[in-house]
Amino acid sequence: MAQAAAHVLSRTPRKAGPATRPAPYDGAMTALTVVRGDITEQDVDAVVNAANSSLLGGGGVDGAVHRRGGPEILAECRALRAGRYGGGLPTGEAVATTAGRLPAGHVIHTVGPVWSRSEDRSAQLASCYRQSLRVAAELGARTVAFPAISTGVYGWPMDDGARIAVRAVRGAVGPDIEEVRFVVFDEGAHRAFETALAEQGGTP
Ligand code: ADP
Repeated sequence: MAQAAAHVLSRTPRKAGPATRPAPYDGAMTALTVVRGDITEQDVDAVVNAANSSLLGGGGVDGAVHRRGGPEILAECRALRAGRYGGGLPTGEAVATTAGRLPAGHVIHTVGPVWSRSEDRSAQLASCYRQSLRVAAELGARTVAFPAISTGVYGWPMDDGARIAVRAVRGAVGPDIEEVRFVVFDEGAHRAFETALAEQGGTP
């Protein structure tokens, strides 16, 4: 597996997290990293699932999360469908469940937009990253791993998807998060994220 390249963002004044959170991360930096690998193997506090709005599983990342994570995740997703998300999880929103048998602490499900030639849906894609980070902060997560949302079956061009991802994370990440790790499958995606990180600042 390729070595992780860490891009460290300088800390900017941000809203403090809830006072009740135990021992928030008190470092001065959030590291944005990109690695080639499998999102289901990440030993982080929260992994993000590129789900679909049914929350009942699919292909790609979603399929891998449910396959590797086991039935507990699906059971919680079904409960969400029976309750708060009867109509499905809207695009751009995020919700957490158990991580089942995955090494991660939680799974945060988010629904990316399908790429469109005629309509700019980048705000929805950015919202996936922002809302997932909001949920991660609520969970008290310090380390979060994201796949390249919408760049698979949903067809988003990788370079643009990577730029949107980095910009959204940089704009939304709070000081209580120690590392945001982008986990990508192939060399092209790795290069796209490296480029986006380099373009948008940060010290390797
Ligand atoms: P979407 O439906 O949001 O496009 P996909 O799951 O089809 O989501 O793909 C999102 C991205 O994640 C794609 O770039 C795909 O190559 C990649 N991917 C697929 N499986 C995994 C995995 N297990 N770990 C990390 N990335 C993955």
